[in-house]
Amino acid sequence: MGASAVVRTAIRVEGIVQGVGFRPFVYTLATGLGLSGFVGNDADGVFVEVEGPADAVKKFLLGLERDAPPLARIDRVAATAMVPSGSTGSEAFTIAASGPAGRPGTLVSADTATCADCLRELADPAGRRFKYPFINCTNCGPRFTIVRDVPYDRPLTTMADFAMCEPCAAEYHDPADRRFHAQPTCCPACGPRLRLLDAAGNTLPEPGDPLARTAGLLREGQVIAIKGLGGYHLAADAACEQAVAALRTRKHREDKPFAVMAADLAAARRLGEVDSAAADLLTSNGRPIVLLTRRPAADIAASAAPGNRSLGVMLPYTPLHHLLLQTVGRPIVLTSGNVSDEPILFRDGDALARLGGIADAFLIHDRAIHIRTDDSVARVFAGRPMLIRRSRGYVPEPLSVSGGFPRQVLACGAELKNTFCLARDHHAFVSHHIGDLENAETLRSFTEGIEHFGRLFDITPQVVAHDLHPEYLSTKYALELADEGLSLQGVQHHHAHIASCLADNGAEGPVIGVAFDGTGYGPDGTIWGGEFLVAGLAGFERAGHLAPVPMPGGAAAIRQPWRMAAAYLDAAGGADPADALDVMRRNQAHWPAIVAMARKGINSPLTSSAGRLFDAAAAILGVRDAINYEGQAAVELEQLADPGETGAYPAGIEAGPPFRARGSDLVLGVIGDLAAGTPPEVIAARFHHGVAALVEAGCLLTRERH
Ligand code: ZN
Ligand code: ZN
Repeated sequence: MGASAVVRTAIRVEGIVQGVGFRPFVYTLATGLGLSGFVGNDADGVFVEVEGPADAVKKFLLGLERDAPPLARIDRVAATAMVPSGSTGSEAFTIAASGPAGRPGTLVSADTATCADCLRELADPAGRRFKYPFINCTNCGPRFTIVRDVPYDRPLTTMADFAMCEPCAAEYHDPADRRFHAQPTCCPACGPRLRLLDAAGNTLPEPGDPLARTAGLLREGQVIAIKGLGGYHLAADAACEQAVAALRTRKHREDKPFAVMAADLAAARRLGEVDSAAADLLTSNGRPIVLLTRRPAADIAASAAPGNRSLGVMLPYTPLHHLLLQTVGRPIVLTSGNVSDEPILFRDGDALARLGGIADAFLIHDRAIHIRTDDSVARVFAGRPMLIRRSRGYVPEPLSVSGGFPRQVLACGAELKNTFCLARDHHAFVSHHIGDLENAETLRSFTEGIEHFGRLFDITPQVVAHDLHPEYLSTKYALELADEGLSLQGVQHHHAHIASCLADNGAEGPVIGVAFDGTGYGPDGTIWGGEFLVAGLAGFERAGHLAPVPMPGGAAAIRQPWRMAAAYLDAAGGADPADALDVMRRNQAHWPAIVAMARKGINSPLTSSAGRLFDAAAAILGVRDAINYEGQAAVELEQLADPGETGAYPAGIEAGPPFRARGSDLVLGVIGDLAAGTPPEVIAARFHHGVAALVEAGCLLTRERH
């Protein structure tokens, strides 16, 4: 076949190719190459037929993947030769109407930060969307949080209630326009509007721009509930101690750090250390909260992140945030709108009812949020981005799992910081952050989320995977599904951590995996959490672990780290009462009873948990005896550590197998240095380095043995 021979090719494109400007891109590419044909989409993705000279069709296929629009994420392109119809390049290439909704298998994109084009329009006094807080286009704006069902089309989103005005409709139907088929497109004439309400939910009577008035209230030191993209936030002037302290008190959140939103990268740099990897993360489409090393001179209220050397900073990701930050003129605390440990509020009625006692006023709007989605949290580690909480801006984009899933799977996750996952073919759809499955509202979020994901991605699970812990609500949910005929698969908690890590890195193992964690149910009936596993995706062998110690009082020992100090000191051979440690003096009323409880094994399950070892060290060092948020003692111990110190406490390893690494040796190191008057900052650093050395030794031993 010569280069000039006319060919016709049918093409199927699968992936995130809807609602991202893919069809206009195909149109421009095809017409630029003088090809005839059409492009359209249906529930499976985008279909294209092109006809023209063979070399032009070849160029078209190359450009299709190489030059795709920013939000497109192509999974697969399949091309099939057809018989040419005889049409010529002079005939139009057309964009076909959306096909009938068949199997709803298309992928939905994540919510995406306001793009540069929209920001320019937002600032253009001559434009019709000047300062419009809901401006968006094909390349940016709300997606996952407004999608009620698939295919992704305006009537199936929470924008269905807003009828487009004539100019908006014209843009929407013009293939050459940036807003061609941008489902959430709108303008001040036809789209959502802001309202400012008082704490009781009444519209404030004084006239004025709600956004400018909100900025004024924030500057006066008030706490404002602001409806965002995935839920309500609570906002306060980040530099105003009185405002941030009031927010903390009213929210019943004692010490857990708040995140801060800064107007732009320059403002973020005044708050924390921003290297190029952090800058990339801060300005990425996902716009996570990025944990930065805080600048000592940062103008941030002491209550924002008490006793913490790092600060969670994010940049505006909606036009509303951009306008607000510009108007306030300085960073604001922006934390999830909830009461203590409840999930983030996202329905107007609930938010008004629950946050009325916290917020002085509400900035709300009339675009509904269909699914609650918290901000994502990330940090830079060793020059690479590392997600700590993957939610808004990332979800529901799937992970590709090379082995694939022969049967459709629901994985129910654990209890704390729960996410679930639905999987089919080669896609794993990990959910948004659900939270701690300890109350009815979070459980509802979990069950409704599973139903929503099942509908969006057409997944009817045949297999349900669950944590081995029989008391987790997620496990109980899985067991109920088993009663309905699904096959059950229990997964050990730390094997799940390591398998997730493998999937995240596109690997299958086997690997030496180290899971240092708080709590996970072990098949031997003890509580695991300092584990060295030789693991692949499908199975594992426990190569070694921290030597178990009793947890006196069970869950009470998690809330009161001094109990773990008692257990570890006893395991280490006991401290000489003659030179009693401060931690013993502080807790002397209960100390002997707790030690006795541990020795007799009364309500004292054995644990190899790394979290409990950190708790013991933190309590002995006087960091804290009781916590008010998960992991607090370990977080503060890390903050205490002197970055300049390089010493490490040695820890012995008992051969096994499985080998047992003696955490109590590290505790002996701590009390030895304490007795010698070594500063706590140095001791904290030596403890951390001791843990690192122990991990290294455990890995080397495992490698020798396997
Ligand atoms: Zn845009
Ligand atoms: Zn309009």
